[in-house]
Amino acid sequence: MKIKINDIPKDGLELTESQGAGALDLARDDLRFVSPVDISAFISRDKDEVYARITTKGKLEITCARCLSPDRIDFKKDFDLSYDVKGKTSLDLTDDIRQEIVLECPLKPLCRQDCKGLCPVCGKNLNEGSCGHKSDSQKWSESKGNTIKEE
Ligand SMILES: [Zn+2]
Ligand SMILES: [Zn+2]
Repeated sequence: MKIKINDIPKDGLELTESQGAGALDLARDDLRFVSPVDISAFISRDKDEVYARITTKGKLEITCARCLSPDRIDFKKDFDLSYDVKGKTSLDLTDDIRQEIVLECPLKPLCRQDCKGLCPVCGKNLNEGSCGHKSDSQKWSESKGNTIKEE
């Protein structure tokens, strides 16, 4: 997203852009956008400072960190950027937008917040039903019940 500083009117400038993940250099193994990334920006200028209020949206294909199922999740992030533009005639926001998107992308995405994961014994996807084995979280709460309180 490139801006000519002299094109920013007093009331600010609204821009929207739809970029493929490749164009944003976001095509990575751990970050799979399955839609273009929609970027909308409101740009305003105060003397030598330019402010940008950015909204990004897209769809990500993930592999759930718990149950290993592929899934698609909505990606959305709002953020603000500011620049000192003294002596400059144009600005390119692309790098900063890319960085904000990368920072926001979950390292361990889940298909849903309460994903039950896979059974450690038989590997069954516990979201589809119980297999009768005890999961780690159950074991943990049992042993926790036996610990002596120190006060
Ligand atoms: Zn899952
Ligand atoms: Zn099992």
